[in-house]
Amino acid sequence: MLIGVPKEIKNHEYRIGLTPAAVREYVANGHQVIVENNGGAAIGFTNEDYQQAGAEIIDSAEEIFARADMIVKVKEPQPNECKMLREGQILYTFLHLAPDPTQTKLLGESGVTAIAYETVTDNRNALPLLAPMSEVAGRMSIQAGAHYLEKAHGGSGTLLGGVPGVAPGKVLIIGGGVVGTNAAKMALGMGAEVTILDRSLPRLRELDDIFGGRVTTIFSTVDAIDKYSREADLVVGAVLIPGAAAPKLLTRENIKNMKPGSVLVDVAIDQGGCFATSKATTHQDPVYVVDDVVHYCVANMPGGVARTSTIALNNATLPQGIALANKGLKAMLDDKHLLNGLNMHKGKITYKAVHDDLGEEL
Ligand code: NAD
Repeated sequence: MLIGVPKEIKNHEYRIGLTPAAVREYVANGHQVIVENNGGAAIGFTNEDYQQAGAEIIDSAEEIFARADMIVKVKEPQPNECKMLREGQILYTFLHLAPDPTQTKLLGESGVTAIAYETVTDNRNALPLLAPMSEVAGRMSIQAGAHYLEKAHGGSGTLLGGVPGVAPGKVLIIGGGVVGTNAAKMALGMGAEVTILDRSLPRLRELDDIFGGRVTTIFSTVDAIDKYSREADLVVGAVLIPGAAAPKLLTRENIKNMKPGSVLVDVAIDQGGCFATSKATTHQDPVYVVDDVVHYCVANMPGGVARTSTIALNNATLPQGIALANKGLKAMLDDKHLLNGLNMHKGKITYKAVHDDLGEEL
């Protein structure tokens, strides 16, 4: 199969669909890969790296879209990219179609077979191609929080790890899933005092086992949120209710009661955010202050560490991508989890949640 990897064109998107190592894997499986000129240059993957891995460098995105049997990307195709897709071609990328009628309509008109990373499942009913981005965002949340706790960045001037003779900072993590667990690992590594709230008791038990008592696990209630947010230096919002907007767990009142100069990092902002005062921000302008509390609400945190995120994403997307290249659409008949990734085929919406949200509208 001929695999095409265009350069990402969304604003400030530096990730790329395939790393040179992934290209090598496709080539080892007997496929050809064409990569857009300087597609990975911004994150240190040069044209030479891709050529050494066996790819051909192509100057124009148009040529890649025209020639390739399968397009591998990171972000959803932009309108001009959608118009270059065609029936019989496979698109393998993040799509997030449900809130995006324009893209859904354009993909429908193209007739392309579109497989969305975010709906591919695994045996535990988890979303394995989404998990790496949650790992990245969880780890970044503490790095960002520690930065904004510094005085010059608007914070209270607290060092999360403390020093000998000075108590460490307190980190409260609301939601102990993939984001929350990774945030806890980083916070513990820095020497902070960590509390995780979750409303799933089985999950709290697992966290207790994972961290061997080094974090405090608390059942999430209004009372617990009130008590622990008053004491916290850094609060990380990491809840998810699949398919739904995030619940507003920290009220305006809770935020007013926090210590001046404390920091909120709302990772759940891509689902609307879990703090009453959250609104989405960007890497260019990541924070704002409400009631003396610094808010960091960047909606695409992994984009900030595009090199790590690209490699992490490729680790997760490669096996299914190779299966698609080796077997074509039949790969989905052999793997029901990959079939769950199928969102559009020959102009029809094939994913129920997308159809429920947009079926009438289109
Ligand atoms: P996850 O499903 O692994 O974990 C979510 C956890 O939240 C679960 O343990 C669940 O029990 C818990 N939870 C649900 N309701 C709760 C409540 N009321 N109180 C306390 N806990 C509650 O999800 P995840 O992969 O960790 O993702 C968390 C959020 O981060 C999602 O909204 C996801 O979209 C978002 N995210 C954002 C970025 C970004 O760049 N901003 C990147 C990756 C993920």
